[in-house]
Amino acid sequence: MHFSHKPRKNIRRDSVRRRSKKRLNMCQSCEWEETIKELSGLCDDEDYEFAFETLSGIMEWIENKHHVTEKQLTAIANIKRAVEDR
Ligand SMILES: [Zn+2]
Repeated sequence: MHFSHKPRKNIRRDSVRRRSKKRLNMCQSCEWEETIKELSGLCDDEDYEFAFETLSGIMEWIENKHHVTEKQLTAIANIKRAVEDR
């Protein structure tokens, strides 16, 4: 029996992407695109494997909303600091 990666998340992401294209509600006042780039780098880094669920969850939220919150930036900074202090 195979229980590997269900495509659930991809289906949801596709429908959000289609909707946001129509609305063009991209945020101009925060650096969400930069943050996605950084997060995808961290998700590929095995030092950050312990925080993968958190990081990929934040990344998905940012991709859907085209926005990043202070709280999320703080969470990312805390995870990076935890790795650097190791
Ligand atoms: Zn924003």
